[in-house]
Amino acid sequence: MKIGVFALQGAFIEHERALLSLGAEVKEIRLFSDFSDDLDGVILPGGESTVQGKLLREGGFLEPLKKRIEEGLPVYGTCAGMILLANKLSNDGNVYLGTLDATVRRNAYGRQLGSFAEELDFKGVGKFPAVFIRAPFVESAGKNVEILAEHKGKIVAVRQGHMLATAFHPELTGDLRIHAYFLDMIRK
Ligand code: GLN
Repeated sequence: MKIGVFALQGAFIEHERALLSLGAEVKEIRLFSDFSDDLDGVILPGGESTVQGKLLREGGFLEPLKKRIEEGLPVYGTCAGMILLANKLSNDGNVYLGTLDATVRRNAYGRQLGSFAEELDFKGVGKFPAVFIRAPFVESAGKNVEILAEHKGKIVAVRQGHMLATAFHPELTGDLRIHAYFLDMIRK
């Protein structure tokens, strides 16, 4: 299985390591020519969504990526990646890919509680150590969106068909189960 990891900005190397540990093949996507037809799925890493959105636009990725996701390309967005996938941001006028039927709040935990770790129940996976870094959460999700994890009543992980998004960073924990979940999603 070959997974494209967007390597424009942010925490992409950690995703690559997790995928390699699970036996997947990894392709870094920096240039549009890296975004080849042979990818079985793509990962949008955490980082800064405004910067990533700008780089995706400048790199000519935005429309083609949106189209391929709409056509069924499996995608996993962590944190900033979740923001890029959302079709609405409650505290920001931008929409980037807009393929995920969810309203997402950026920096939803405020500055003070910007970063923290907590164990959550992740549906189909079990207890999972979640690392949040200036994280968003999902304020509301469409009917087709399955809620996979919550933190204090806020939605922090969702799946809509072939799209997976988490507000937290499994790639920073060494726990590979959510990456394994994504690879399973692709297989099925
Ligand atoms: N706060 C960042 C944003 O709004 C996301 C943080 C992250 O990806 N860890 O894009």
